[in-house]
Amino acid sequence: MFEKVLIANRGEVALRIHRACREMGIRTVAVHSEADANAMHVRLADEAVCIGPAKSADSYLNKPAIITAAHITGADAIHPGFGFLSENADFAEMVEKHGIAFIGPTSAQMRLMGDKITARKAAIEAGLPVTPGSPALDTIEDAIDWAEKIGYPVIIKAKDGGGGKGMKIAFNKDELNQAYTMARAEAKAAFTSDVVYMEKYLQNPRHIEMQILADKYGNVVHLGERDCSIQRNNQKVIEECPSPALNDAERKKIGEIVRKAVEKIGYTSAGTLEFLYENGEFYFMEMNTRLQVEHPITEAITGIDLVREQIRIASGAALGYTQDDITFNGHAIECRINAEDPSNFAPCPGKIVEWHAPGGLGVRVDSEIYSGYTIPPYYDSMIAKLIIHGKTRNSALMRLRRALEECIIMGVKTTIPLHQEIISQAEYIDGQYNIHWLENFMEKNK
Ligand code: ADP
Repeated sequence: MFEKVLIANRGEVALRIHRACREMGIRTVAVHSEADANAMHVRLADEAVCIGPAKSADSYLNKPAIITAAHITGADAIHPGFGFLSENADFAEMVEKHGIAFIGPTSAQMRLMGDKITARKAAIEAGLPVTPGSPALDTIEDAIDWAEKIGYPVIIKAKDGGGGKGMKIAFNKDELNQAYTMARAEAKAAFTSDVVYMEKYLQNPRHIEMQILADKYGNVVHLGERDCSIQRNNQKVIEECPSPALNDAERKKIGEIVRKAVEKIGYTSAGTLEFLYENGEFYFMEMNTRLQVEHPITEAITGIDLVREQIRIASGAALGYTQDDITFNGHAIECRINAEDPSNFAPCPGKIVEWHAPGGLGVRVDSEIYSGYTIPPYYDSMIAKLIIHGKTRNSALMRLRRALEECIIMGVKTTIPLHQEIISQAEYIDGQYNIHWLENFMEKNK
């Protein structure tokens, strides 16, 4: 087992990793920017190294600085968290070459699954259902031909896409021209490569993803699904598991398809396969080769510590359990609490003058904030995750309502009022929502 893990991240996920390490008797090294000298992840870690100025490009994305910090402190492994360098295959390769363990998949696996076009191909070969789609589209004529074949509406997506960027929808040939040109330009600006491809655009799907764990010996388990359909700008806002849309038989069926596919792909570590789900059918979209923000809801219903498992797998341990050992207990919901003005989603950094975290049975709060902490303006605006576990969906909802009421954050605006509004809507309470529900709801209530 590792003796010292460097955590190449900040915020609540850095704390999350620190906590798993501590429980395993592993020492931790925090890295931080100049703007984060007072951050909680720095305070709690055994050692801390400043790796550069506030701007992420100079600090949290500064690969040589992070690897140097690992060498100086004698860390034998690096956990990348999510965001920042977590899906950067070049970084993973650099870490491997320096004889440090990367807590995640291999750089080759990341390359294969991180590129949406090669990932689609691997998914098809591994037996996953995918959205009807095209290979890379070199010209607008290619795009027109493929759109005819697939049938409108279609969505143009960037090969290296992420964060909803570089995606454009076309409902007919006239719109396609512009969508194709804009998607390429946006992809070029955001990801350097302007390679795009096309998928059938599903009009009212849910976003349902499957969590998997795979060790280095070919053992793979799935930990069920998460429904992440409550989204704004393709960003998840509330997630829950199990999905209100699936029954046990459907869960078992897609779970087994996913488990076998991951076995075939030969992936190791924790990973998430994202699907769209419409009219009882699943369509593979992409794989996230890292821990996800919403991982705690899966932890709540399976009792499995996903970060601990990532660390064990990276150190060469076998899973030690099979699919039959996995059981799902109750229902879990996560709210992402952002320091944002809930009326227009403008980031709202600043000083937290008072913070009272909710508690009690079935309530977990993952957050880096404390009273007197100043949220820096340079990074993501998520400041806390509220994770609720209950015996049933209804009891989880009642508990969530109570916990949101109890949560006090003074000094900055937060999205707590938005969460309260969403979970009091009849459609949300009935589990009747798809990926457009939140935006439609907000449009109606403007
Ligand atoms: P990114 O990597 O940028 O997050 P994804 O491929 O995960 O992009 O897609 C993000 C979101 O875009 C999905 O959750 C869904 O809301 C929407 N989307 C993507 N592909 C399709 C599609 N074929 N049909 C309908 N919506 C889609």
